[in-house]
Amino acid sequence: MALCLNQHMLSPIIFVVSVLCLLANHSIAEELPRFKHHLKPQQQSLNFLVVGDWGRKGNYNQSFVAHQMGIVGENLNIDFVISTGDNFYDDGLVGVDDPAFYESFVDIYTAPSLQKIWYSVLGNHDYRGDVEAQLSPILRQKDSRWLCLRSFILDGGIVEFFFVDTTPFVEKYFTEPEDHTYDWRGVLPRESYVAELLKNVDSALKQSNAKWKIVVGHHTIKTAGHHGNTQELEELLLPILKSNNVEAYINGHDHCLEHIIDKESGTQFFTSGGGSKAWRGDIKPWNPEELKLYHDGQGFMSVQITNTIADFVFYDVFGKVLHTWTISKEHKAAE
Ligand SMILES: [Zn+2]
Repeated sequence: MALCLNQHMLSPIIFVVSVLCLLANHSIAEELPRFKHHLKPQQQSLNFLVVGDWGRKGNYNQSFVAHQMGIVGENLNIDFVISTGDNFYDDGLVGVDDPAFYESFVDIYTAPSLQKIWYSVLGNHDYRGDVEAQLSPILRQKDSRWLCLRSFILDGGIVEFFFVDTTPFVEKYFTEPEDHTYDWRGVLPRESYVAELLKNVDSALKQSNAKWKIVVGHHTIKTAGHHGNTQELEELLLPILKSNNVEAYINGHDHCLEHIIDKESGTQFFTSGGGSKAWRGDIKPWNPEELKLYHDGQGFMSVQITNTIADFVFYDVFGKVLHTWTISKEHKAAE
């Protein structure tokens, strides 16, 4: 009787667990979430700003960068903003009600031109807080601009963006966390998370018919800056970028503005991590033929893309243009 009772009790539990496992496996195998940005009628170019490493309650010149972003954003009539992560210092958000969301985002980027969607990825500092808070729709209710996911695709008509959650790639955050606590909910086991993500990014890139393909992540692949190249991304993500003819990889993490062109593949690497605190004088040697810009101060980047031309422009904290680069589909990598 006791056995019989246990079996009766266990059966529904086993079934529920089985279904949950199936659902979990199914969700892992699903494609990346996809968003579409609709161009206005007759719109010829997609225009956007890129800023990274910014949330410091206006300090370290964050407010000045925000002011200049507002001016450039208005001049270009931007479609949206991309955040390359490390959105809230030092340790992400403590929860959905953390006032830092207002103090570092809502009340800082107040210019009318910046009242557009902010497509955002997570940085390593964001993983040190309640990581699910930044992903929560509750933040979108507080400010409808905010859109942060771990990894996703944005179809911008002219260009397709592939946003990649790069923090779980970096082994030392798991093996040598030092005095930091990381919120790995939704990431473990790390190996299968990374493998599945790479598979999804690769297949999405292969399926893409977009004229331009841009990959966005927080961590560096190629940089002369403080952190150096992220070895795991060089080994695992870079071959996927190359085999799928990705024009550009855009990242933050190093607190600088930087442009590197890989001589072999022609792939462009843009670092826009100057949203607040910068690291003056922190630069490693790099082949000057590849390194087109290294600015060890605050600032941001704008991008304008048509069917045939992509213009990348870097601005410093005063709004001064530091560097421009044009890629033409007919004449690739022409300045
Ligand atoms: Zn970082």
